[in-house]
Amino acid sequence: MRLFRLAIIAVLLGSLLSIVRAHAQNASAPPSAPKLEHFDMNLVDKSLDPCQDFYQYACSKWNAANPIPADQVSWGTTSGLRYWNENILREAMEKATAQTSNRTDYEQKIGDYWAACMDESGIETAGTRDLKPELERIDQMKNKSELADEVAHIHRAVPGAWESDDNQTGAALLGFGQQQDFDDATKVVASIDQGGLGLPNRDFYVKDDAKSKEIRSQYEIHISKMLALSGESTQQATADAKTIIAIEAAMAQAQMDNVARRDPKNLNNKMSLEQVQALTPSFDWKHYIEAVEAPPSPPHYIVTSPQFFRGLEPLIQQHSVGDWKVYLRWHLVHASAPYLGKALVDENWNFYSHTLLGAKEQQPRWRRCVRAADRDLGMALGQAYVAAAFPPESKQRTVALVHDVEHALDQDITSLDWMQPATKEQAKIKLHAIEDKIGYPDHWRDYSSVKIMRASYLENVRQATAFEFYRQLAKIGKPVDRAEWGMTPPTINAYYDEQLNTINFPAGILQPPFFDSNLEDSVNYGAIGTIIGHEITHGFDDEGRKFDAQGNLRDWWTPADAKAYEQRGQCIADEYTQEIPEAGVKQNGRLTQGEDTADNGGLRLAMMALTSKFQAEDKSIDTKEADGWTPRQKFFLSYANSRCTEYRPELMRTIVLTNPHSIPKYRVNNVVSNMPEFQEAFSCKKGAPMVRANQCRVW
Ligand SMILES: [Zn+2]
Repeated sequence: MRLFRLAIIAVLLGSLLSIVRAHAQNASAPPSAPKLEHFDMNLVDKSLDPCQDFYQYACSKWNAANPIPADQVSWGTTSGLRYWNENILREAMEKATAQTSNRTDYEQKIGDYWAACMDESGIETAGTRDLKPELERIDQMKNKSELADEVAHIHRAVPGAWESDDNQTGAALLGFGQQQDFDDATKVVASIDQGGLGLPNRDFYVKDDAKSKEIRSQYEIHISKMLALSGESTQQATADAKTIIAIEAAMAQAQMDNVARRDPKNLNNKMSLEQVQALTPSFDWKHYIEAVEAPPSPPHYIVTSPQFFRGLEPLIQQHSVGDWKVYLRWHLVHASAPYLGKALVDENWNFYSHTLLGAKEQQPRWRRCVRAADRDLGMALGQAYVAAAFPPESKQRTVALVHDVEHALDQDITSLDWMQPATKEQAKIKLHAIEDKIGYPDHWRDYSSVKIMRASYLENVRQATAFEFYRQLAKIGKPVDRAEWGMTPPTINAYYDEQLNTINFPAGILQPPFFDSNLEDSVNYGAIGTIIGHEITHGFDDEGRKFDAQGNLRDWWTPADAKAYEQRGQCIADEYTQEIPEAGVKQNGRLTQGEDTADNGGLRLAMMALTSKFQAEDKSIDTKEADGWTPRQKFFLSYANSRCTEYRPELMRTIVLTNPHSIPKYRVNNVVSNMPEFQEAFSCKKGAPMVRANQCRVW
């Protein structure tokens, strides 16, 4: 499992959208020319009061002028960048489809991957041909002792089946992979994670409100339709869907919830293979490990959720081999659906994009192919992106910005009145040990062993899945590779890795409106500067603070400072435990505490860095400029502008229930209402909604 702490929801939906597959409409239609947004003060709605609702003040004009397209579930000022990035990748792949004799190995791979994905009529003609051998394998299971063997096979051969996503749902039965050891971050050990669900997380199975029940009943209908499309009779499919729901609901009950998983101590369960076996005696773990060809994991395996594997034991015992075949068939069909014909693609979209997220139409196929290629070959394809969109000057300017914001945290730590010198010293050691990774990796991944052909899209995805699975497993028992990147260069996101103690900014996010080389510092510090501050703060949020400078899970806090920290953290958790009327659900501030801490710290650190820059240049940050605005006002407006995003209500509900990030409006208003500097900048008076009575501050 990965311990990345990310910056943005929109792309984070990856964790949800990885189970959401869009479909083809008009394969030959050229993409409309995408437009990059540039921050513009004319977007401010001056008829509104910034002290009432700053998000509306900054965003209502833009949001009103840019409704969510029918095939999207959210739309914001940064969506144009996503389209822009996708176009660059599309062009690179289309160019490589010409089967000239001098194509490089790299061009052959991206060109043929693209051609196979876009070949809708070939995919339609093949139907479920490429699925059949897998369905037959499952059918041939004779008893439950073969379960481990079949799960191992599915993990190797079925797209996305081996790794649990952020919500621990994606993997069939369980997740298996590698991670750094919690207590010795230089070592890589095997990681065994909970998994097995088809809905976004355990809450979807255990909650009892009307909406949750309605979604479960739609899910059951969806499963039966998918099984029927894979060849079962309607009657059989209806009965099987009930079996699957029963198994998944029991798994959900056994899972650790997403708040408990935020405490790494809860995940740090070291076990020998014999101890793992004792959790689930009816699952042949030794055989599973052999069948996936994983190296041994000395001195231990990490089992993130022993309770889940204990809960699996009675479940395996109670259900017949026939029930387990049904369960595996569903996960096979579910994971393969996006790479098959229209009927399966449509039904998959209908539940995961329409019902769960609120999409009205399917995305054009080419966007779907770009996303899949970025996932499967992104560290090769990224080279084309960097060449087209990330000049060396962008890298230099970002490196300087990162240093400015890191320096701001250094100053912040020095000035804190609630932290004692001993802890401050440790905090600074950790801060100065953070490695900054900007743009793209130093070494490109070698995909030469991945076999890509025009004949079968599903087979290409299987090849890429197997490559990635074995690439991950090969790390077990070896020293950690600090240089590796967890995001591809075109990704519009950023992350902090708490076990590597690195911050990572792919070239994809170092573009307008986040980073705009033509605009002034106040605008850039407000947008990309706050994201840099956000990622740095993750090293010191309620989860990140538990890791030391080397990425080990080690307590470096004095008891008194830890207590003072927790009080401040509680203030944030209480503030964000709030009703979200637009979504019809309540936010759990304990789930979003880390991200909210990072948002608050990020904006403050970026503002401190900007202030220092103005001081060094002997300029005033609070003096009106020719356009009538002060640089500080522009800084806050640029921050809000970069967050202007509308969500469909279904998406919003799903995010609030599953995602550790707050909804954009609250990422703006809750943060600025904690800041006296904001209230001064816009002359807000005590009692106004943007002047919180009990202002929270951690960093
Ligand atoms: Zn984050």
